[in-house]
Amino acid sequence: MFFKLMFSRRARRAMKEMTRLKSMINMVDATAEIELACEEAHRLLDQYADVLLRGEDPGALLPQVKHHLEMCMDCREEFEMLLSALRATTG
Ligand SMILES: [Zn+2]
Repeated sequence: MFFKLMFSRRARRAMKEMTRLKSMINMVDATAEIELACEEAHRLLDQYADVLLRGEDPGALLPQVKHHLEMCMDCREEFEMLLSALRATTG
């Protein structure tokens, strides 16, 4: 009887821990949803470059793209190529 009680207590604690972990994972999922996927970032790169070339701050207008470019080297390279292409044609 005593052991059974011990076990259930421990099980309950483990379950509590699992719930805590689960909500932590959910939080991570939620931030991942806010972040752009490469595909979405690509779609906004034109716009982002436009704003930058106009002399405005693209990070203020498109903070998600800015964030993505900081995190993702592939897109950053893509963006730099786009930017130099645009500069070559407009400059
Ligand atoms: Zn990317």
